Amino acid sequence: ANNRHFFVGGNWKCNGNKRSILELVELVNGIHVERNTGVEVVCAPPFPYLDLVRSTLKKEFGVAAQNCWIAGSGAYTGEVSADMLLDVGVEWVILGHSERRHLPELHESDETIAQKTEKALESGLGVILCIGELLQERENGKTLDVCIRQLNAVAKVVTDWQKVVVAYEPVWAIGTGKVATPERAQEVHNAVRQWFRNNISTQVADKLRIIYGGSVNGQNCGRLAGQRDIDGFLVGGASLKPEFAEIVLSHR
Ligand code: PEP
Repeated sequence: ANNRHFFVGGNWKCNGNKRSILELVELVNGIHVERNTGVEVVCAPPFPYLDLVRSTLKKEFGVAAQNCWIAGSGAYTGEVSADMLLDVGVEWVILGHSERRHLPELHESDETIAQKTEKALESGLGVILCIGELLQERENGKTLDVCIRQLNAVAKVVTDWQKVVVAYEPVWAIGTGKVATPERAQEVHNAVRQWFRNNISTQVADKLRIIYGGSVNGQNCGRLAGQRDIDGFLVGGASLKPEFAEIVLSHR
């Protein structure tokens, strides 16, 4: 991870209720992260619990929403704007998650994700931007083409990458128990960083945090964290369990 500040996000997805969410907050609050030198930890509960989590989670940990709308207030029934998230103290938003890209009922396009990214950054949120290939795309040797296509859409609208974290999440590894090997993940992370070096700038490429997601758990996090271009994790299933602590502390 070089000198980049290690970043671990917990994506709680559509899980929990008031009681279990408070238990989870207690668990995360119990993780001892050293100030300044430690890990940046961000929890992403479902929308209705953001305010509760922000008011109970330790201040040194961040809170992320799992989605936001492409525009500000207005006649957009059922949507939540970036400004509303900021208003309740949320600092981050996860955008482009594979479930939002690929669930047939949602099917968000690269362009929609780019619009959301633009709006979120303009409002002042940090963005955890997820990219990654489907199994078939990987088998056809298209991994990088897909990641670059997804990045290109967003790169058109981003002027300042300081508040962006890129999460490489191969879709075949999400929630499947099939984690990418550390070497394979490193290879893609390195190629993505190289793309930033060639297409954005050396400075952005050196500073940008590229985190891995896809069946990360307490057992496999250590070897992944040891890879040069892996700057942290986005964790789904294991972020709901005590082993989240081991993942947060995997970078030592
Ligand atoms: C995710 O949802 O971003 C994720 C990586 O899930 P899991 O850790 O369960 O594979």
